[in-house]
Parts: sequence; structure tokens; C-alpha cells
Amino acid sequence: MAKVKTHIEESDVLIIGGGMAGTGATFEARHWGRDLRIVCVEKANIDRSGAVAQGLYAINCYMGMQWNENQPEDHVRYARNDLMGMVREDLGYDMARHVDSTVHMFDEWGLPMMKNEKTGRYLREGKWQIMIHGESYKPIVAEAAKKSADKIYNRIMITHLLMDDEKENRIGGAVGFNMRTGDYHVFKAKTVIVAAGGASHIFKPRAVGEGMGRTWYAPWSNGSAYALPIAVGAKMTQMENRIVLCRFKDGYGPVGAYFLHLKTYTQNANGENYEKKWYDHTKNLVGEYIDHHPTPTCLRNHAFIQEVMAGGGPIQMVTKEAFQDPHLETVGWENFLGMTVGQAVVWASQNIDPKYTNPELTTSEPYVMGSHATCSGAWVSGPEDLSPPEYFWGYNRMLTIEGLFGAGDTVGGSAHKFSSGSFTEGRLAAKAACKYIEDKKAEGINVKEKQYTDLKEVIYKPLENYTVGRNEITGGTVSPSYISPIQGLQRLQRIMDEYVGGIATNYMTNENMLNRGLELLKWLEEDLENVGAEDYHQLMRAWELKHRTITSQCVTEHTKFREETRWPGYYYRGDHLKLDDKNWHCLTVSRRDPKTKKFTMEKVPVYHIVDDKKEKKAS
Ligand SMILES: Cc1cc2nc3c(=O)[nH]c(=O)nc-3n(C[C@H](O)[C@H](O)[C@H](O)COP(=O)(O)OP(=O)(O)OC[C@H]3O[C@@H](n4cnc5c(N)ncnc54)[C@H](O)[C@@H]3O)c2cc1C
Repeated sequence: MAKVKTHIEESDVLIIGGGMAGTGATFEARHWGRDLRIVCVEKANIDRSGAVAQGLYAINCYMGMQWNENQPEDHVRYARNDLMGMVREDLGYDMARHVDSTVHMFDEWGLPMMKNEKTGRYLREGKWQIMIHGESYKPIVAEAAKKSADKIYNRIMITHLLMDDEKENRIGGAVGFNMRTGDYHVFKAKTVIVAAGGASHIFKPRAVGEGMGRTWYAPWSNGSAYALPIAVGAKMTQMENRIVLCRFKDGYGPVGAYFLHLKTYTQNANGENYEKKWYDHTKNLVGEYIDHHPTPTCLRNHAFIQEVMAGGGPIQMVTKEAFQDPHLETVGWENFLGMTVGQAVVWASQNIDPKYTNPELTTSEPYVMGSHATCSGAWVSGPEDLSPPEYFWGYNRMLTIEGLFGAGDTVGGSAHKFSSGSFTEGRLAAKAACKYIEDKKAEGINVKEKQYTDLKEVIYKPLENYTVGRNEITGGTVSPSYISPIQGLQRLQRIMDEYVGGIATNYMTNENMLNRGLELLKWLEEDLENVGAEDYHQLMRAWELKHRTITSQCVTEHTKFREETRWPGYYYRGDHLKLDDKNWHCLTVSRRDPKTKKFTMEKVPVYHIVDDKKEKKAS
């Protein structure tokens, strides 16, 4: 280890991850902390990193308050309905009341927004979505962050958070390594904002072998947003609420513009509306939730999954009608070109022209995230003016570790933020972090050298494992004493797939399977002490795997704790197949003890702070 160069950087606000939430946080931190030192650290390069790297075709969260299109209350009702009642309404409302100002800045910064020619308003794709030419969405927000930060570090993967050695439960910074130079980086910080995205590839993907990188969620999203806080004992919420997406088969092309703008619809192989067929069955499981409008996403998935299991597949999107209109045909193709070029390539390779063939849909493997139509993530304080006492401990978006904040996929309980809401939440977290410093809460932080030199040994151990272990290989590539990151990843994916409700079991699990899954995850965790990395890129893979494993343990513990099937279509507890509002109309919260590595679980009340008034129709 002596050969590895160490760099020490001191900052006031350290942002981990320069995706949508991270760029929002970096931008806003400069506004509130003009004299503060603001540093953003990114695993890739912020110009093209995170889930928006390829671009987007729609901003999925915009109220349109200036035209009275929607109000924040409407959005809370919408997210609450979609998540079967289980959201933090204080966080959702807070994001929604600020999100329009974020979108207006994107417009000022040059993001091409589509406009309704008649009204001059942003062109709506649906009630919440507005359409953009968004191939360059990410470079545009990255520029705002670059102009705001004192320093952006690209190509550094953060592996651990540092804690203050003077005051218990207070943050002190983070450490990681540069994947190109191999240098060790110590970031001492008064506040840390974790904005490291969601988790793909913890469940076995449908596309395996050479196609393995083709998942719906960004393949490089490796759960650092969860593993970093979990490892230091921060509380997490709703980690059982993984998401399964209905998307175009094999390319995972988005369906939003197709449903909402092109007005395409789905059918089974016999041309039937299969959703209707499963109404009584679903009602028996979830009661009146199936009568809600719009139908919660998980329940639509449920009908899809049941229909396929009953032999009605393949399920198709009826595009042949809409694509006869040349304008809609153009929109359909452009939708992919600005966002998921791969889907167009898949169709070309399979001789699918949606004008003449209705393309197949599929349900994806599950992903864990906190900003899309799902709300896994950290348990954070809400805003002072909205949050009930149980949801408030001083600073907006602060985790249960002092000085540690979160935004975007990191934050649990607040679904349907999407790109604009994640950027907005980054801004909210940064404002609160600056206030925390201003209030002198970060005085006297002391991170002793021993803490980060000990971590240095731990971080580079996979290189050591490889260097020593490879000498024992007498033929081939399999080592008797280390496993490679890809071997470990495939083992993790199988455990999650087969025991925790992946595609292998049609999303089904139960207490016995979860117990076995936890046992296998424990053994995997032990074996990961022996993961070997042949270079710095593989070292990143090794740490991505370790982060995915901790995230998976938390997901499994939560899934076991919630003894009901709250979201059929996302996963099923075969031993508790029905939704159980009497016992489980609550949020789940976990904490992993950093010393014993044992999880403790609790139920926390879900407070409905917005009334039940019917949603206003989109104008
Ligand atoms: C396929 C897909 C389609 C979507 N479509 C839309 C849409 O049409 N409209 C819309 O508004 N939203 C859409 N979204 C949602 C939107 O992309 C997310 O809500 C948003 O990107 C979340 O922001 P985030 O900052 O939490 O995560 P990200 O934007 O993913 O950023 C996380 C960042 O953290 C970095 N990172 C991760 N781990 C580490 C580490 N250990 N150290 C340092 N850096 C790290 C990553 O490289 C990345 O840059 C879509 C998402 C996906 C996946």
C-alpha cells in the first residue's frame, strides 16, 4: 500500500455523485454558501453520468403552477395513490412546491423544451410530464455544477464515509480511489450529501451473458447511495419497495410517451384487453385500491404477470394504429433516439417496424431506487413547516447521521421525483447543509489519521488478494483463494433472483425463502473478503459488488419484515398474499448496527397530511 499516493482534500460541502441530484446540490450549495468550499466527487464523468447520461425525452415532474395546471397537493395525491398509500407526504409536497423553479432554470440554461404552439405552454406528454429534446440534458446541468463547485473530481469511486472521531454519530467526510491513477483520496468534510443513484444488477437481469449490460436502470448504478449510509448506521426506509417496469422487450425502451402522447395501448396475444380479466382477482388481493384512478403501476404489472402466467403472452403494445399518423410515427422514433437508442437498434435487428408490427412488452427484473415510481432509500428529516415531529430532526433531507444529507434516489419515502425532482431535492439538501454549517453544527470535527489509513488497507485489499492468489492458479482462470467481481455479482444476482422475488420465481417469495436468502447473502459477504481485482477498474467492480451486497441485505430484511403483499406486480409474499391495511398501513424503517452488522426493524406511522380530494384533471 505504501506505493499508493494519498491526497487529502478539505471541504465544507462534499457531494457524492454528480448525477441529477448531485448537480442540483452542487449548484445550490454555491448560492447559499458563497464562501464555502464545495466539492463534488463522481465515479464517472459528470458530463455523461448517472441515469440521465444518454438523455431524456421528457421531464416527468413538472407542476405547471404558473398556469394552474397542477398544485403540489395534486402531486402528493398522485404519488400516494401510485405507491398504495405508502409515501412521505411532507417530502413529496416539499419537492413538488419547488420543482417548477428548477425546470424554469433548465429552460434558461438552454435545454430545448417543446412548446404547445397554441398556448405557448410547455408541451405536455401527460398530466405530470413535459416533452424536451433532451439528448444534452446531462451536459447542461453538469455545466451549472462545474461553474458552481470549487472542484469536481471525476473518476473517483467513493467506497466509505468517514465519521467524526470526537462526536458520536456525526459525519466527517468520505474516502475513495481514482479508477485511472489508483490514487487514494481522503475527503474531509463538514457536511456530506449522498447523491449516488439507485441500484441495478442486484437481481439477475433478463439479459445475461453478453447482453448483461442491457438493463432498464443504468447498469452502473450500484447502490452506493444505500450502502454508504447503511454501513455507518443510518436508518433506511421502504427498501422492500423495489420496482418492476413494463417496457419494450429486450431494449427496455420507455413506454411513457407511447401510452400518454401516442395513446397506444396493450393487449394479449389474442388481441384482448387482459387488464379487465384480472380485475376480480386483483380486487380480492388489494380491495378498493384497484378502483383508484389512475390504476397504481404495480397493479397494472400484476395483470400483465398473471396474464403471462396464464398463457396469454406475449403481451403487445398496439402501435400499428398510432403509427399511421406521420407526426406520431416521428414522435415514437424520436422518443428513443433522444433517450434509448438501443431500442431502435433492437427493433431493426428483429425486423420490427411498429407501423406494421405491434412490438412485445416485458416486465423487467426488480431495481431499487427512490426517485422513480418507487420510494426505497434513506430515512431523512423533512422540512420544518410541513413535517410531523416523527419526521423532523432539524435539517431538511438530513439522514439519521448528523451532517449527512441525501437527495434523489438516495432519499426514501418520496417517489415520482424523476430527473427534475431529484435535481430539486439536491438543491433542498444543499440549502439545509449550508444552514447546518452556518448554525455551527459542524464545529470541531476531527477525523483521525488512523481512521482513513485503516480504510486504505481495506479498500485496496482486492488488489492484494489477486496479486497473491493468482500464483496458485495452475491452469485456466479460476483461483482457489479468490473470486472475481463478476463471479461474485452472478452469485448475488442468483440469490436475489431465486429467494427475494426476482424473475426466476415470477416475483414470488416467502419467509422461508427470505431466511435462506439472508443466510446465503451472509456467506457471500464473508467470501467477499476474498474478492480479487487485477486492476483499478476491477477494484471498482469489487467495491460496486460490496455495495450491491449490503443494499441487497437491507432489501431482504425489509421484504421479510413487511408481512403482506403491499405492491402485487412488484413482488409477492406467498405466505401473506393480501394487502393488509390493518397491520401494515405504515412505513418500514431499518438500521444496521455498524459493529454487529445486525439489522433492527421498526414500523413508523404514515401520516397523510394532504386531504383525499379527487385529483384535478390535466388541463
Ligand atoms: C431508464 C430510465 C429512464 C428514465 N426516464 C426519465 C424520464 O423520461 N424523465 C424523467 O424526468 N426522469 C426519468 N428517469 C429518472 C431520472 O433519471 C432519475 O430520477 C434521476 O437521474 C435520479 O437522480 P440521482 O442523482 O439520484 O441519480 P443519478 O442521476 O443516476 O446520479 C447518480 C450519480 O452518482 C454516481 N455514483 C454512483 N456511485 C458512486 C460512488 N460510489 N462514488 C461516486 N459517484 C457515484 C453515478 O455515476 C451518477 O453520476 C429515468 C431513469 C431511468 C433509469
